[in-house]
Amino acid sequence: MDNRNKCAACYRQFNKMEHLVEHMRTSYHSAHEPTCGICRKHCRSFESLREHLIGPLPKVECERIFKEQGCDLCLTIFSSRNALHVHREACQFSRGNNMGLTNRMANLGIQDDLKMDSSRARVVALACKMVGGGSDGSLDLCARVCLIDESEKIIFHTYVKPRLPVTKYRYETTGMRPEFLRDAMPLRQVQRKIQDYLCNGEPIWQIRSRAGKARILVGHGLDHDLKSLEVEYPQMMRRDTADYPPLMKSSKLSNSLKYLTKTYLGYDIQTGIQDPYEDCVATMRLYMRMRSQRHKVEDYPLAQDPQNRNNFAAFRQSELERMAPEKMLEISRSDYYCWCLDSSS
Ligand SMILES: [Zn+2]
Ligand SMILES: [Zn+2]
Ligand SMILES: [Zn+2]
Ligand SMILES: [Zn+2]
Repeated sequence: MDNRNKCAACYRQFNKMEHLVEHMRTSYHSAHEPTCGICRKHCRSFESLREHLIGPLPKVECERIFKEQGCDLCLTIFSSRNALHVHREACQFSRGNNMGLTNRMANLGIQDDLKMDSSRARVVALACKMVGGGSDGSLDLCARVCLIDESEKIIFHTYVKPRLPVTKYRYETTGMRPEFLRDAMPLRQVQRKIQDYLCNGEPIWQIRSRAGKARILVGHGLDHDLKSLEVEYPQMMRRDTADYPPLMKSSKLSNSLKYLTKTYLGYDIQTGIQDPYEDCVATMRLYMRMRSQRHKVEDYPLAQDPQNRNNFAAFRQSELERMAPEKMLEISRSDYYCWCLDSSS
C-alpha cells in the first residue's frame, strides 16, 4: 500500500501530494491534539477520539485493545488490566468527593470577605447563577457568584443584588428567593472585588503575559459570566471549558458543563437546585485534567507565535511536496493554546 500521501497525524489519504500539503497548511496538527494510545492517530477533540475508540463506528483494532486496557473517562490506554484498575479509582471523581462539608457550607451561603493575597491561588475558577430580568424574565442577571482555588476551597461566595429589578427568580434551578437578595452585596461592589482579585495588583492594561501576577481564570462560558458581573479580563488569562477545542464537539460547538462532567469526570451535576460552587469544582477539575496532559515540549508551540509564522511558507511548494508526511507534521503547530503549557510556566 502506498502511504506516501497519507497525513501523519489524522491518517487521511490523499490522491495527490499537493492536496496533502494543502491539508497540512490548514489543519494545524500538533503534539497537543488528543491522540489514540494505540494507533497514534490524532483527533481534533476528545469527542472524536471517543468515537474512534468506543463508537458508534470505532476502529476495530483500537476498540478491541481499548475495551481491555483503556480508561473510558480520560481515554488513556494502560499496559495491563491491573494498571487500569488502579488508575480508574483515581480518575473517577464523585460529586461527594471531599465536597461534603464544604458543599454544605457553600449552601449556607456566604463568605464574602475576598482578600487580596498574592501568595494564594495562581489559578481560580469562577461560576455564577442567574435570575431573570426584563419584562419576560429572559435577561440573565447574576444573583450568585462563587470563586474557588486549585484545591477547591472557597475564596468568595456571595449573593449579588442586581442593578435591575428581578422579574423571575427561576426557583426550580436557582433556589433563589427575594429575601436572599434584599440585603445582598451590590453588583458594583462584587464587580470591583473580583476584578481586583483577578488582576492581583497588576493594572489590567498591563496584563500582557502569563508570567505576571494576574491570576488564571477558569470557567465555563466565561464571556457570559464576566459580562453579567461587568468584569473585564483578558482572553489570554482565561481557560474556558466551553471553548477549549479538545473539549468541544466534533461540530465545533460547545458541550454543556453537565455533559463534560459526566463524560470526563464521571459524575452528575446540576440536578435540581444548582450551586455555583459545584460548577466551579467541575471546571477546575476539568482544567487540572487538561493541564496535566504530557505533550512534547516545543520552544514555540503556537502557529501564531511570530517565530512560526512562516513554518510552511519558508518552504517552496515543490520542497513541501517532496517532504515526508512525518516531517510536515513536525513543523506543524497548534492553532490553540494547549493548557498543558500552563504547567511549564
Ligand atoms: Zn491530517
Ligand atoms: Zn499540550
Ligand atoms: Zn487508534
Ligand atoms: Zn482515566
